[in-house]
Amino acid sequence: MYQLIKDLNSVLSSPVLTGADISTRYQHDWSAEEPGIPVAVARPVSTAEVSAILKICSELGQSVVVQGGLSGLCGGGNPRTEELAISLERLVGIEEIDSGAMTMTVKAGTPLQVIQEAAAAAGFVFPLDLGARGTCLIGGNIATNAGGNQVLRFGMTRNLVLGLETVLADGTVISSMNKMLKNNAAYDLKHLFIGSEGTLGVITRAVLRLFPKAKSRCSALLALADFESVIKLMHILSRDFGGGMSTFEVMWHSYYHFITDNVPNITSPFAVRHALYVLTELEGADSERDQVVFESALTAAIESGLVVDAVLASSERERDGFWKLRDGVAEIGALIKSGANFDVSVPISLMQPFLQAIENELTRVIPACKLLVFGHIADSNLHFICYTGDKADVKTIYDIVYRNVGEFQGSVSAEHGIGVQKLSYLPYSRSPEEIALMRTLKLALDPQGILNRGRVIP
Ligand SMILES: Cc1cc2nc3c(=O)[nH]c(=O)nc-3n(C[C@H](O)[C@H](O)[C@H](O)COP(=O)(O)OP(=O)(O)OC[C@H]3O[C@@H](n4cnc5c(N)ncnc54)[C@H](O)[C@@H]3O)c2cc1C
Repeated sequence: MYQLIKDLNSVLSSPVLTGADISTRYQHDWSAEEPGIPVAVARPVSTAEVSAILKICSELGQSVVVQGGLSGLCGGGNPRTEELAISLERLVGIEEIDSGAMTMTVKAGTPLQVIQEAAAAAGFVFPLDLGARGTCLIGGNIATNAGGNQVLRFGMTRNLVLGLETVLADGTVISSMNKMLKNNAAYDLKHLFIGSEGTLGVITRAVLRLFPKAKSRCSALLALADFESVIKLMHILSRDFGGGMSTFEVMWHSYYHFITDNVPNITSPFAVRHALYVLTELEGADSERDQVVFESALTAAIESGLVVDAVLASSERERDGFWKLRDGVAEIGALIKSGANFDVSVPISLMQPFLQAIENELTRVIPACKLLVFGHIADSNLHFICYTGDKADVKTIYDIVYRNVGEFQGSVSAEHGIGVQKLSYLPYSRSPEEIALMRTLKLALDPQGILNRGRVIP
């Protein structure tokens, strides 16, 4: 170990952290997975330093864990006691905004919020957005192929990255800092690393896509009687909003009323309780015309009986109030002990039977089990929290839910990734052949298995 620390300190501009200097910040992410204290924490400031660290680790056979903002929800960034943590927190900065190409070149340790603000200041939008925007780093977003609130319109992080620089386990730098939308010059290697959760390489820089800022935004909170109406409404609005729909978030009554009943300063604008709630938004380029399109589509939906009640935001304050209901999920952790959090995909047409099946089985096996459900339905993404308050029930809940996800042809991870939390459940969503190919890729890029060992691939 002495050799490792000595070698690392000889190539880094600031010494690695060891012992009592390793604060709890480097010991765990936002998941409930086991925390750990790594042998040391290296905080490189350049790609060259990341490369030098990995060259040393590969020569010594030293395993590493890669850390971004540690807002991950699957335990992927939690260190083990024998690992070196490589924190990207000092590899920070926006290198360039190219207004002509509509791109931004960034270092991997730049916080997402800093990127969003820089894009806005330059008159653009970087549309990746999630509740952890102030904490997560862009390298972590790319490593997890993060989803978030704007996937419906802009796709996942994968769609927002044009170029990528990555350091392989042996220290080799693969720089593919492409700025063009079209580039079919053989394999597009960046896609190997996007969503690989640090198992194939350490992301150090990226070229991101920027988009024109929308000139108008209309928001409404709707109440509906059943899930069939939700699906019909989604199809009608995506047609009648003329392709401008940017949000279609669904909250089941269980989730919605848990938030309004328990989280201070979050209230429902409706006088009575309903079965389902939809937060929808239209973004466009002409505020007057967009408002007319938005209101007439919603009026038609109310007149046809699909929507039973509606509130349209007439100010930023009201819009924020709608989003507080949806973002209130961040408060649930403090209110529920030992909850099992799910981020799964299920084909939209199977969502209701899927939810019914898990509710039936969970309440049969664990009668005290409760479910809070919400989701980015248009992306086939359901989030839910199942809980009894007893930690001993969590494993049984995971087993039941993930088995059902497999039976309903869903994915055990829609956007948060696998990390360590879902490792044993991956076979419900990936075939043995797919997993074998993942192992082949891992072996080719990281033959000693030093990068994020024991994560993602079972
Ligand atoms: C309140 C809250 C809301 C959230 N909402 C969403 C959401 O809507 N959608 C969503 O997708 N996620 C969401 N998340 C999860 C999390 O924010 C994302 O997964 C985020 O992309 C992780 O970024 P990070 O920098 O914190 O990564 P970390 O947690 O540090 O790491 C995540 C994984 O990526 C690896 N990694 C990190 N940086 C690099 C790098 N530079 N190179 C290679 N590997 C790396 C790590 O080893 C780890 O396996 C939310 C989390 C919280 C706490």
